[in-house]
Amino acid sequence: MHKKEAYIALGSNMGNRAANLQLALDMMEASPHIGVKARSSMYLTQPWGKVNQADFLNQVTWIETDLRPRELLENLQEIEIKMGRQSFEKWGPRIIDLDIILYGNEIIKETDLIIPHPYAQQRLFVLIPLQEINPEIIFSDSGMSIREVLIRVLGREEKQIIKRID
Ligand code: AMP
Repeated sequence: MHKKEAYIALGSNMGNRAANLQLALDMMEASPHIGVKARSSMYLTQPWGKVNQADFLNQVTWIETDLRPRELLENLQEIEIKMGRQSFEKWGPRIIDLDIILYGNEIIKETDLIIPHPYAQQRLFVLIPLQEINPEIIFSDSGMSIREVLIRVLGREEKQIIKRID
């Protein structure tokens, strides 16, 4: 069984957000195909896109898995559905959102699966927790280190408010 490393971003802005993140992590860990290697702190983030909704709680986890990228996506979508996610409105409120940020060094560009995740390199709520758990990350598509990407994003005008919760 050949295992690959991957990074998953978790987000919730409905109900007990911390409990939702914890439950999603527990469900990942319960899978015989997923091992959780590390998890970041949780971060409180102002919503992106649609702003008239509750703040998000975000976290990133570093996993190893013997699932192929598409199988991993299906596994994560199953967790989202089991947790009762109903709102599939783009940028809308959600109990849980699970995104594959990186999967080994692979670059995938299919209609329903893009890895590295297309927004990851623009969003502090992904980049900051990612750097917390592994500051050595290199994005396989741009070839940039997480440090370089963070410097670029932090140098922009655009405001992104994010606060670490201990
Ligand atoms: P979201 O509303 O953010 O959960 O987006 C869900 C949709 O994004 C799903 O239909 C996926 O097929 C698609 N998608 C594309 N790339 C990814 C990725 N790297 N991780 C998770 N979902 C993805």
